[in-house]
Amino acid sequence: MKNHSVQIRAIESYDLAQIQDAISFWFKELRDPKLNRSKRVLIKPNTLGAFPLERAVTTHPVILEALIRYFLARKKEVWLGDSPGGSVPVQKVWDVCGLQDLADRYPIRLLNLSTHPFRELKYNGISVKISEALFQCGIVVNAAKYKTHSLMAFTGALKNLYGLVPGMIKSEYHRQYPDTRAFAEMLLAIYGIARTKISYNIIDGIIGMDGAGPSGGNPRHFGLLLGSSSIAAIDSVASRMMGFKVSDVPYLWDALHCEGILPSKIEVPQSFRHHRLDADIRAVKLTKDGLRFIPGFAAAAFKKVYYYYPEISSRCVRCGICVKSCPVEAISWQATGFPKVDTDKCIKCMCCHELCPSQAVDIHKSFVAKRIQR
Ligand code: SF4
Ligand code: SF4
Repeated sequence: MKNHSVQIRAIESYDLAQIQDAISFWFKELRDPKLNRSKRVLIKPNTLGAFPLERAVTTHPVILEALIRYFLARKKEVWLGDSPGGSVPVQKVWDVCGLQDLADRYPIRLLNLSTHPFRELKYNGISVKISEALFQCGIVVNAAKYKTHSLMAFTGALKNLYGLVPGMIKSEYHRQYPDTRAFAEMLLAIYGIARTKISYNIIDGIIGMDGAGPSGGNPRHFGLLLGSSSIAAIDSVASRMMGFKVSDVPYLWDALHCEGILPSKIEVPQSFRHHRLDADIRAVKLTKDGLRFIPGFAAAAFKKVYYYYPEISSRCVRCGICVKSCPVEAISWQATGFPKVDTDKCIKCMCCHELCPSQAVDIHKSFVAKRIQR
């Protein structure tokens, strides 16, 4: 098997036997000596927050179970770890997302990457704090979820690496890298450091998400499980099947370039060569980054008519997660007992939209933004 290939299986439901079969086949084809040699494996799921499984925000536990069974059968020590977003207690995330149940049924170590030691490394002049777990495990499987993303357009394997950054340091990076391009550069630094440590990537697209992802969108039955040893290749194929161009996903071209991959040369199974999903990506296309391509003198005028900001709706249950998670303290409690966004302070990182457990943060768009993003 060539490095730049993406494996895809049509799988209708979270059926453990079918998922195990796909994963075992893919790993066998991989012929990576590290899979035999190394004794410890880190499985890195997407556990963005304490979202119930039917919301399709996090990697489904049956995918993780298939991976756990594969590695335990080969006598590996299995660590299952992530650092969720925002200020939600990690134990709650483990309970709601099915990780605690897995740890109760299998002899594995659940790892809270928010409190686990980290090291600070530099890539392309950008310093990032990244979990020590990445360096403590000889095998690392990046088990991502197939979704749209309000800031980055698409989230698959590369964006899932952000959970290697511990706890609220993630919020700090949103403050430090506020616009789409700067945030993408920071993600690419994490990718540059982590990519050679990642043995394999899985994207759980059996039920993925379109619309205003990564948490407030619509769960969609895509019926697909994807796998690849290449982060850039799997994200390229997955985002294309959703309807994105390479230029729509801010980090994708650089990631492909870094791995020396031409999108047209990525191998996929014949039956998926022209496969397109019926995914609604309108809500995440053309973010504020679009302003970069408008000449300076016109940008100021354009900003007056093209704008959007997060707005807290009456669905708010006053949990306070957005207030605690906003990297620039743009959300505060009002006398009404509900939180409100200060749009002047807001840097549009969309963390509040991403982390709200009640889908209570809407994106208010101007008339022009609505027309452009149709
Ligand atoms: S908007 Fe969402 S995250 Fe913020 S307090 Fe309300 S329910 Fe919680
Ligand atoms: S209000 Fe929301 S979008 Fe704005 S900076 Fe805070 S978390 Fe980010």
